[in-house]
Amino acid sequence: MEAKLGEFDLIWRFFKAGSESMAQNQTDQVLLGIGDDCALLQPDPAQSLAVTSDMLVEGRHFFANANPEWLGHKALAVNLSDLAAMGARPVGFTLALALPHADSSWLTQFSQGLFRLAQQWQCPLIGGDTTQGPLTICITALGHVPTGAAIKRSGAKVGDDIWVSGRLGDARLALGALRSEWLLDHSSLEAVLPRMHEPEPRITLGMQLRGIASSALDVSDGLLGDLRHILKASQVNAEVLIDQLPISRMLAEQTEHLRRQCAANGGDDYELCFTAPSSKRMELEALSTALLPLTRIGSITSPTNGAEPTLILRDANGNLLTAADSMLLTQSFDHFKSN
Ligand SMILES: [Mg+2]
Repeated sequence: MEAKLGEFDLIWRFFKAGSESMAQNQTDQVLLGIGDDCALLQPDPAQSLAVTSDMLVEGRHFFANANPEWLGHKALAVNLSDLAAMGARPVGFTLALALPHADSSWLTQFSQGLFRLAQQWQCPLIGGDTTQGPLTICITALGHVPTGAAIKRSGAKVGDDIWVSGRLGDARLALGALRSEWLLDHSSLEAVLPRMHEPEPRITLGMQLRGIASSALDVSDGLLGDLRHILKASQVNAEVLIDQLPISRMLAEQTEHLRRQCAANGGDDYELCFTAPSSKRMELEALSTALLPLTRIGSITSPTNGAEPTLILRDANGNLLTAADSMLLTQSFDHFKSN
């Protein structure tokens, strides 16, 4: 059944039904979900409320005609990834959606991707709005983190190790293949596409890192650029072993240049990059075995008085990268732009 324009209130009822059918409209923290003028939350006094908002715009953040199920997943995943980076547990989210047409098949698939991830993390849709306009998806996610336990960007200390979860660069490898920037054989492309379309927010890891990590963020724009945010907030420098960055077999098969570029600067990884004192190595290695691979990729070094935070890159042998190589890698890849 194809809904007609002007039926955007019906769309909203559609999301309400989707949310309720999953029996997750109400949880301990959410007294009242969708259906009234506002949702009502009951904050636990021992917890801080973590709030994050991310907007996805067609042509800017995803291709026109992108698979709606992937979009539903990704729109929520990028927000949950921000909660994960602070060590927060998801509580609920709101959705503001502009759609060019009220297309029920699109909505059904979008909801499937959205609610499957919401269900996985017990994170109900608690409110929002729909309207006609260029396809734009804006989600605000709310999370809880015990007061004082949130992992901020500003806590990195000289001597800390720098770690990253999972593997880097596959989303960028997939994007480049889709944009014909390079060739990728069919089976490799199939293997890396899910990393681009359906990133997994590292929520369990984020919560486990409370009390271990001194600073953290999620890698959304590319590792080196994002790491600079930590350096700036913490007023420290860093050294990164560029060939130590964890990569997949598919990326390992590429040229050294492409390998390094995708791993160091490819966006959309949604892994966690964090710092921790070296005294936490045993704990982190245990976590790496139990949960998902964690790799030590460098260390935090002393700040240079009054100067901008500096990031030094070393190769597999520990040698400094040449100025040219380093320059290439520290200039981030262009972001996904529309034509
Ligand atoms: Mg983030």
